[in-house]
Amino acid sequence: MDCIFCKIANGEIDSNKVYENENIIAFKDLNPVAPVHILFIPKRHVCSLNDINSENISVVSEIFSSILKVVKDLGIEGNGYRIINNCGKDGGQTVNHLHFHLIAGKKLGWPGI
Ligand code: AMP
Ligand code: ZN
Repeated sequence: MDCIFCKIANGEIDSNKVYENENIIAFKDLNPVAPVHILFIPKRHVCSLNDINSENISVVSEIFSSILKVVKDLGIEGNGYRIINNCGKDGGQTVNHLHFHLIAGKKLGWPGI
């Protein structure tokens, strides 16, 4: 499949990997918007949050536990961080493979809409 994040997951395209387990991979965003900007994706292709169902919902909890591991490794739990999922056209999703952004390392603006 011609999906850039599938290619990152299977090693066809290089990434700056931060964390990996059997089902999840995390890598640095190519165009960071903050000092910490890491993407968490399921290795198995899921287009967006719209495609989560009872069969694959466990990847969402695995992604969140992976996020927490990385947050603790980076020592940013005290200062805080933001998790973002852009879904669909209005949500600003540009890569159609489910991903969650971990953004941190500076005081972030809100709401940014
Ligand atoms: P979204 O707009 O939520 O779909 O986010 C897609 C993100 O993927 C953007 O922040 C891009 O900078 C990032 N991105 C696209 N291609 C790559 C890549 N090859 N390696 C790392 N990050 C990427
Ligand atoms: Zn994919």
